[in-house]
Amino acid sequence: MIQNTCAAQVVRSRVLLSAFAILMACNAARLADSPPAQIPVPNPAPLPVDKHGDVTRTTTAKGTDRLREWRGGVMGTSLQLEVLGTDVAELDRVLGLVLDELRRVEDVFTVWRESELTRLNDRAGQGPIPVSRELALVLATSIECGRVTRGAFDVSYFPLRSLWNYQAEHPTLPTQAEIDAALAFVDWSRIEVDLEKNTVAMPAGFSIDLGGIAKGYGIDRAMSVMLEQGVKNGLVQAGGDTKALGRKFGESWQIAIKNPRHPGELFAVLPVVNQCVQTSGDYERFVEIDGQRYHHIIDPRTGRPSQGCMSATVIGPEATFADGIATAMCVLGPQAGMEIIEQLDRVEAVLVGMDGEVHLSSGLKKAAIPSKVR
Ligand code: AMP
Ligand code: MG
Repeated sequence: MIQNTCAAQVVRSRVLLSAFAILMACNAARLADSPPAQIPVPNPAPLPVDKHGDVTRTTTAKGTDRLREWRGGVMGTSLQLEVLGTDVAELDRVLGLVLDELRRVEDVFTVWRESELTRLNDRAGQGPIPVSRELALVLATSIECGRVTRGAFDVSYFPLRSLWNYQAEHPTLPTQAEIDAALAFVDWSRIEVDLEKNTVAMPAGFSIDLGGIAKGYGIDRAMSVMLEQGVKNGLVQAGGDTKALGRKFGESWQIAIKNPRHPGELFAVLPVVNQCVQTSGDYERFVEIDGQRYHHIIDPRTGRPSQGCMSATVIGPEATFADGIATAMCVLGPQAGMEIIEQLDRVEAVLVGMDGEVHLSSGLKKAAIPSKVR
């Protein structure tokens, strides 16, 4: 009985389909001389939701090799992912996992909405607070950056940030009294991270912002996902922060450094293989008041926007650490900054002073990099 019903339905469907085909043929014949009649179109089946629908995707081919590139946004900045292989569908699968990881990291470390970090900040002064292993590790690296740069990198600078709100519609300058009051709650050495118990303690009134290092960590994590998925050649770039694995069609990856006074132009291109390149600068987010630039990197010694470098590019094996160090170079400036870079193992830097002079670390002296930014 059931079979009969199905058979009847099949016959009926065939009849309907034939009728539909004849109707379409008639319509096609009529198209040339008269406007088409309105044919009711059944609702199409909903497309599967593409959770990465906000990225644009392109493919470049060389022989059987394919370079798949995704562009979009993450962590409040531009995102570029590239990976080489032969099967574009497989490359898309890997890039989806990479982007998921970047967005997961953003969710843990953001201070723009509730996150594990904001919940930790809410509990300042309440003794050691249990945190995830990864938050404990990133905070430990942040403190290491604070120690190496003698406090130029200081994730506790956060109380100063609201004083320098360059994003406000009518930005105003803080008073010295307001800066001094905020500075009382800024001191990286008073953040205690216990990597055995995965706890963090900080004094009451303190708060942490990881904006100077979280992108680097995200890039390290994203590259770990690529490696876990068997990728041999790929690139992760978020704003001025890049990690490059292997090569692009057999050649070095070409990583551009923006001209800090004309960020639409490049002033140097670095050939990179298996390295991280992190660039910080006073041109990323700023406001000008009475001809003076107020930007987003704060000197924890003065509580004011830093005056050390227009731009600082740090090259090293690990993006998290290089990211923190690059931010600190903008605070310290080329002289004090380069002394620190020269003491760090496998770390190089391109520092552009406030006068536009370009300073290269000893391992880059032979690189084709202009000596002055104009
Ligand atoms: P980056 O682009 O890596 O240089 O990071 C800049 C961001 O670091 C800023 O937008 C702030 O969120 C944060 N930041 C600013 N000044 C400091 C500082 N002295 N130490 C640590 N983080 C900072
Ligand atoms: Mg940084």
